[in-house]
Amino acid sequence: MHEWALAEGVIETVIQSVNAAEKNKVREVVVAVGQLQQIRRETFEFSLREMMPENPVLADTRFVVEIEPAQFCCRRCQHPFGFEAIAEAFGEDEGEAVHFIPELAHAFARCPSCGSADFDVQSGRGVRVTSITAE
Ligand SMILES: [Zn+2]
Repeated sequence: MHEWALAEGVIETVIQSVNAAEKNKVREVVVAVGQLQQIRRETFEFSLREMMPENPVLADTRFVVEIEPAQFCCRRCQHPFGFEAIAEAFGEDEGEAVHFIPELAHAFARCPSCGSADFDVQSGRGVRVTSITAE
């Protein structure tokens, strides 16, 4: 159901900007989904497709869902690092767990440079519409 709510938000955003731009046909919408956003991509894409027929402007729209990589930055040494650096630090099992339960990243992860557990998540969360092609 989480995916439905997110898809609804995406559709609303698209409709609003299309109305504002006085366009009436949307060709393509690119949506960036954060790597740490717990989402089933298939369910999300399905939700978007299911909502399209309700809006004539979206009748022929192609939705492209891209995964935005997570980016972290250490608060102690300012070292920037990605999800891979964290996954590598784990054994196989924990790496898998973090992949499926991204909230665990904060519990397990350490800065690969200084070992601090104090870091910011700079990207990789949330869902954003990154581009709309309309006419
Ligand atoms: Zn550090």
